[in-house]
Amino acid sequence: MTIKILDKETVAQIAAGEVVERPASVVKELVENALDADSTQVSVEVRGGGVSLIRVMDNGSGIPSSEVELAFQRHATSKISSTNDLQSIGSLGFRGEALPSIAAVARVEVVTCADGESAGTGIILEGGAVTCRQNQARARGTTVTVRDLFRRVPARLKFLKSVPTENSHIANVVSQYALAFPGVAFALSIDGKSTLKTSGRGKLMDSVIDVYGVEIAGRMLALDDSEDRWSGGPAGSIRVSGMVGSPELGRAGRGYLSFFINRRWVSSRLLAYAVEEAYHGLLMTGKHPVAILNISLPPQEIDVNIHPAKSEVKFRNESGVFRAVQRAVRQTLVAQMPVPKIEEVATAYAAPGVRRQELWTSPVDSGRSPPPEAPQTLLASLPVLRVVGQVLNSYIVAEGPDGLYLIDQHAAHERIRFEKVKQQRTQQQPEVQGLLEPATFEVTPRQNEILKSCLENLTEFGFSLEPFGDRTYLVRAVPGLLAGDSWPGMLRELLDVLSGEARSDWEEKIVVSIACHGAVRSGQALSDDEMRELVRQLEQTANPHTCPHGRPTVIHLSSTQLEKEFGRS
Ligand code: ADP
Ligand code: MG
Repeated sequence: MTIKILDKETVAQIAAGEVVERPASVVKELVENALDADSTQVSVEVRGGGVSLIRVMDNGSGIPSSEVELAFQRHATSKISSTNDLQSIGSLGFRGEALPSIAAVARVEVVTCADGESAGTGIILEGGAVTCRQNQARARGTTVTVRDLFRRVPARLKFLKSVPTENSHIANVVSQYALAFPGVAFALSIDGKSTLKTSGRGKLMDSVIDVYGVEIAGRMLALDDSEDRWSGGPAGSIRVSGMVGSPELGRAGRGYLSFFINRRWVSSRLLAYAVEEAYHGLLMTGKHPVAILNISLPPQEIDVNIHPAKSEVKFRNESGVFRAVQRAVRQTLVAQMPVPKIEEVATAYAAPGVRRQELWTSPVDSGRSPPPEAPQTLLASLPVLRVVGQVLNSYIVAEGPDGLYLIDQHAAHERIRFEKVKQQRTQQQPEVQGLLEPATFEVTPRQNEILKSCLENLTEFGFSLEPFGDRTYLVRAVPGLLAGDSWPGMLRELLDVLSGEARSDWEEKIVVSIACHGAVRSGQALSDDEMRELVRQLEQTANPHTCPHGRPTVIHLSSTQLEKEFGRS
């Protein structure tokens, strides 16, 4: 093929692809524009996962009538004017790319009224070109309406996830900005239903209650932001404020880590690592903290111009920032928690982890030949086992026809429960436990989007949940296998997990989740009867050798192996 310059429309669509990846990116750009315009109220309305409609309405400074068309030109911005300004960006936008990018892949209507203008202006753009302009009544502020997103970009449309998944991303974007700007009243409505409303009163705690609910908010610790944490760094200062969750709030994923750098919502592996380091030894293995951190530092210390979506930043002094964040969080955790509790948690969770590792590696590291059979090559079914005892409150020691068996009690119980749940589901006979009194269950906007669409799946497993207000549900029954109070935790964790999964995998994830929660934990002492019962049930499972996550449930040391290890053969 000969080399040729691409036509304008193709160029525009390529450029748009970098800024507008999915409906939530449009919401993010429009909300950022509203915030840059000093709005105190921002409302977002979406339909059809954001593909049919996205509307962002603000009460900010508006766009002067004579500049409305200009705002849709590529690289047109009112926020910077020279390369010098790039070194000290104080606004969220600065590349002048969002509006033209959105207009290249959707139908856009803008109605705006700037400070000091008596009438508003409305324009409509199709395929990036203005097709209509008129005077239109509007109070101060701007409304941008985006319809038929990606209709002309079938390739992009095809890659979008399900409506609930796109909705959950959108809910997350609005939730994050609500946390970053407690002084702005946000409203989000999805398919006509109000999903999030913040008061805009200016207190982070209020936003946390609105976004995460009272249960999480009640366990958040405020950071002491009075200290300048730049230790030995260049001129300037770094301040870290916000809130972190007490360690018992451990979550299944990193979805509860929010970082705002000079109020810009960013994702940062460095910052996530710094926070997790601060929680070292305080969280259960596999759990992640809740944190909402505002980091403010001189604009010259960061480069936000490394990605068109501006969702990542580069720090000039990475290690300084890392230390500052880690210390700020650690100090808060240590200062606000009773000291003995920290030690308790630390030993309870750190120690078994270490020993488990040793157990695993010892046969291989013994210096002699490697064991003849790896755990995976065991026979398909388990022989009848005689329980000998329990070690580390985590493993059951048993004797079989050919040597020694070590059983991971948690993994084994998960396997047993997994097969039970699966069987009940196949037979459509879930074991149900009615609650004595219906309980209320509150979810975040993001979780709510998933919950709305998986209610039916949950019903099939024995949950009975009814909507009860915007983001609250009334729970009347739970699966019989989730007796006790393990179900709220299980349900919350499940909703977070589902938001990242294809709908076709939801059912499997629900099974795994029910199996895991309510299973016997590692570190739990078991009586001889309980161990015998567990081993007997494991023997009867169809696939006794792995837990639903694929980890082994049993390690077998054959008599030949034992003889070898002891130098008897
Ligand atoms: P950027 O935000 O990088 O400047 P955009 O394409 O997002 O680029 O917006 C272009 C310009 O349009 C902005 O610089 C701003 O002047 C104006 N603008 C966009 N949205 C709004 C809004 N909601 N309120 C006021 N002005 C706006
Ligand atoms: Mg912008």
